[in-house]
Amino acid sequence: MSNSQQFSNYIDGEWTVSVTGRTFENRNPADSRDLVGLFQASSADDARQAVRAAAAAFEAWKKTPISRRAAMLNSAAAYLEQNAQRFGEELMREEGKSLALARDEVMRSAQTLRFYAVEGQSFGGETYPNDDPDMTVYSLREPLGVVTVIAPWNFPISIPARKIAPALITGNTVVFKPSSEAPLAGLRLTEALAQAGIPKGVLNLVTGRAGDIGAAITEAPEVRAISFTGSTGAGRHIHRSVPMTTRTQMELGGKNPLIVMEDADLDLAVDLAVKGGLSLSGQACTGTSRILVMSQVRSAFTDKLLAKVRTMKVGSGSTAGADIGPLASEKQMENVLSYVAIGKQEATHLAGGERLRDGDLAHGYYVAPAVFTDVTQQMRIAREEIFGPVLAIIEVDSYEDAIAKANDTEYGLSAAIVTANPRYSHRFAHDIQSGTVKINRTTTGNLINAPFGGLKSSSTSTFRESGRTGLEFYTQIKTVYRG
Ligand code: NAD
Repeated sequence: MSNSQQFSNYIDGEWTVSVTGRTFENRNPADSRDLVGLFQASSADDARQAVRAAAAAFEAWKKTPISRRAAMLNSAAAYLEQNAQRFGEELMREEGKSLALARDEVMRSAQTLRFYAVEGQSFGGETYPNDDPDMTVYSLREPLGVVTVIAPWNFPISIPARKIAPALITGNTVVFKPSSEAPLAGLRLTEALAQAGIPKGVLNLVTGRAGDIGAAITEAPEVRAISFTGSTGAGRHIHRSVPMTTRTQMELGGKNPLIVMEDADLDLAVDLAVKGGLSLSGQACTGTSRILVMSQVRSAFTDKLLAKVRTMKVGSGSTAGADIGPLASEKQMENVLSYVAIGKQEATHLAGGERLRDGDLAHGYYVAPAVFTDVTQQMRIAREEIFGPVLAIIEVDSYEDAIAKANDTEYGLSAAIVTANPRYSHRFAHDIQSGTVKINRTTTGNLINAPFGGLKSSSTSTFRESGRTGLEFYTQIKTVYRG
């Protein structure tokens, strides 16, 4: 499957090289001298071959007993569990998160496969009462066909797992494109399913640039559904360019608020702001990016936040005690630095935001966590997704003001409030325009067994990922009247 550091596509049950004969590099963002691997720079021809293989495999996979499909998911989960340390180390190297978080992500992916192995087996249709004693009316849930799965780099194994597992257990076949910034984790997930005996063509992996293979895996008539997670711009583009009959699930960006009320425990509020906004170096779709603080506690909160941020240790994923790691790529770092420059013009800069290059950090893409205050609604750092370790403090003077400002965004992915007052927290769940609502918890983090997805521009889909609801997207309903 791999030749030294060169990795293959997986098409029609074979590990194959691209017809282009070209590869692209993936390097460690903590130390760009470290080459993680060479991956296939695939062309549209490779992608079309993958789509054809998935289409050819569909009828037989659909008819494969569900208990066998479930056994394969469980076997793949066991493979990930056995290799969690190794795959976690690779994930840390290719993407930059800490070893502990990377290993957890591999284990979470295994749990996701096991979850859908169970849930998928009890996910069926319903029967409907009617007046005719000789007639039975029931619904059947059937797979859609070929599903394209497109993943981002920030959770490069757990996000594909939460798409591929429900797709496969319900009888669909899959073409999977991982992000070029972190393709190895997705390749390991594919390897796990391949060794579990998934028949040829049922799961296909194609690596490469979106510009080269994107249209072939999204616009082909055989593709019945696309589950995409990534930026709002890319999601919009795909959504607009696919045939009307292709079902889409676009899970997109966020600009997630954390509201700090006047009665909040400020130590808790600081802890939630730092964990939600700066873990993964701020590169979580649900990461806290705007902190809306009541005027009475603004200065006390800001002082505590700065004291905490200034003591945070920046280092690679394997550095003991490091609180914050590198950005995932040079491009990502440059983007964050450009927003820091914008923030310095727009608002009051309190801390951080500079590239760190001393000692062990010299060859990585490290940015000191940044804090801005006096941020107002129209500023770009208050409106645009930065996807980095940048916190924007916005002052509010009432609960209503906080809700109005929190909702004044095109996004609606995750939102949190810190308060001791049950009246606020109860109202917040109703008032906030957000797919995930957190009360005295970080904006980040979601359960495998609970629905996950955004409102407004954070998602185009009425279908939710995760949990039992995660199965719905991958099935269509037939209603049967049996006399
Ligand atoms: P991205 O949009 O640049 O890329 C995501 C994936 O889409 C990559 O695999 C990329 O190659 C592919 N892609 C891009 N254009 C395509 C096209 N035209 N056709 C086919 N494939 C295409 O996003 P990213 O930088 O990898 O990830 C960061 C973004 O993802 C952030 O905006 C973040 O908020 C979002 N995200 C959202 C969620 C969520 O669940 N809502 C979770 C994680 C990340």
